[in-house]
Amino acid sequence: MIEVRGGWWRFVPLALLLGACARHPAPPLAGPASAPVLETPARVSLIAAPVEGDWKGLGDEATALLSQYLRINTTNPPGNEIAAARWLAEVLRREGIEARIFEPAPGKANLYARLAGDGSARPIVLLNHMDVVLASPEFWTVDPFAGLIKDGYVWGRGALDMKGEGIAQLMTMLILKRARVPLKRDIIFLATADEEIGAGVGAAWIAERQPDLVRGAEFLLNEGGLTRAKAGGQGVVEFYGIGTTEKSPFWLDMTARGTAGHGSRPTPDNPVHRLIRALNRIAEWKTPLIVTPAAERSFRDLSTIERDTTVRRWLSDIRAALRDSAAVRALTSDLTYNALLRNTISITGLRGSNKTNVIPPVATAAIDVRLLPGQDPTAFLAELVRVVNDTAVTLNPQGPNWPATESSTETEMFRAITDVARQRHPEALVTTMMLAGFTDSHYFRRMGIASYGLGPFPLTQSDSRGVHGNDERVSVDALRTGVRFYYEVVARVAAK
Ligand SMILES: [Zn+2]
Repeated sequence: MIEVRGGWWRFVPLALLLGACARHPAPPLAGPASAPVLETPARVSLIAAPVEGDWKGLGDEATALLSQYLRINTTNPPGNEIAAARWLAEVLRREGIEARIFEPAPGKANLYARLAGDGSARPIVLLNHMDVVLASPEFWTVDPFAGLIKDGYVWGRGALDMKGEGIAQLMTMLILKRARVPLKRDIIFLATADEEIGAGVGAAWIAERQPDLVRGAEFLLNEGGLTRAKAGGQGVVEFYGIGTTEKSPFWLDMTARGTAGHGSRPTPDNPVHRLIRALNRIAEWKTPLIVTPAAERSFRDLSTIERDTTVRRWLSDIRAALRDSAAVRALTSDLTYNALLRNTISITGLRGSNKTNVIPPVATAAIDVRLLPGQDPTAFLAELVRVVNDTAVTLNPQGPNWPATESSTETEMFRAITDVARQRHPEALVTTMMLAGFTDSHYFRRMGIASYGLGPFPLTQSDSRGVHGNDERVSVDALRTGVRFYYEVVARVAAK
């Protein structure tokens, strides 16, 4: 049972509390839960694209907005994204941008808003999810839903995944509108439910039920990228990873059947024994190493910043390296590299009898398979059945699956991201990234929209640990930088 911590009544005392102890006092929230009203801090009125001095105020505004957004508890389940959607709609409405809220189920919501261009080029979608994963407050040093601003950070569940990016996208919309930037493309802001539970009534629902909202779009920006800052490096960026593809989840249920009985009189075809033997064959199977073009390119890029000369040589020619057993051992012992070089299998769930003295008629296991781009799920399943080699054991996909696809690097959007990154940090590597996990981008890649994972905030390795972890937070500096980065990328591609 998920503890529901949301509700507008929590905001009032918290806002007062925050005003008293935070470095930046949080702006007050007022109004009934049905229409949370945002009092923006000193609103920046812009008649032209922001100049250098404006960015300070815009950064402050983004910080205040994120703090408020984090106070809306959208832990999924149940999500309660409707509260977040209403808040976003109100922020947009105050700027003269009308948003539509879809309510596919009680308490669930997807929000859609559009800035019109002149139609001479195809639209850009800014995609963000409003839901967050569970936070266990006992492991946090602050209240995960207080939107606290302290020690130069905005703290809270979702600060990185991905309400922070949602705010960078929202600010991009607001700035474009205020500055009356003439656009050649429509900009679509799409905030969705249910990313964290996979499928559900978020992006999947949009793709199935309201595909016209994004039809014809050329580009989409989403989570799934990374700007890696050097630890203690005072804002030095080591590399920008732009997500162009992701592995595809292929989750399976395995079922072994046999003869039930009393635990005191063993049966020869106990399904639990059968399941264990089958799982053991899977656990011992080393899936083949496969070099995809995307991984090959990333490794080659990464070699340019690798300090160890041997590893640099391996990364620079990964195909050659995989013919050398020492290189294979070393590279595949890195969990990330290993995941980029093969289809992976993790056995994650087991169920037999719920009574120690009962042999059940069936035993089941859950298997988390992740396939590389270009891999055929059906062919992989056939291979797995061969490895299991037991007709009393069946393997069934848990849900819909799809072969992963890749978005091209030869596009105006990819070039814009690269250019903005290089302009800010000429010393940093700009490379593509294949995610071992997955985001909602696949729904849109499959609709023919070139979709990129963009991580606008420079994060150190330890900053990134807050994602799905404890004390999730984003520094105010990273937020400022990220908002500007996002705006510049979108403006570059969309402005006339
Ligand atoms: Zn996310």
